[in-house]
Amino acid sequence: MQEAEYAAVTDSFELCPKCGYDGGFHVLLQRINNTRSTNLELYLKCPECKIAYKVGWLSRLAE
Ligand SMILES: [Zn+2]
Repeated sequence: MQEAEYAAVTDSFELCPKCGYDGGFHVLLQRINNTRSTNLELYLKCPECKIAYKVGWLSRLAE
């Protein structure tokens, strides 16, 4: 995955700040630390310009 940009989410995050696309984002899941970790960081990826945004969204896989 290319370097993700940090995006601060205020009231909503529906519009790509880079290209202006307003059709919603795809979701990327990235394991944190190593391949055995069940902790994930989720990113929002613009389907138009392909930039990934880091929004501080964390989750965990079922074991
Ligand atoms: Zn975009």
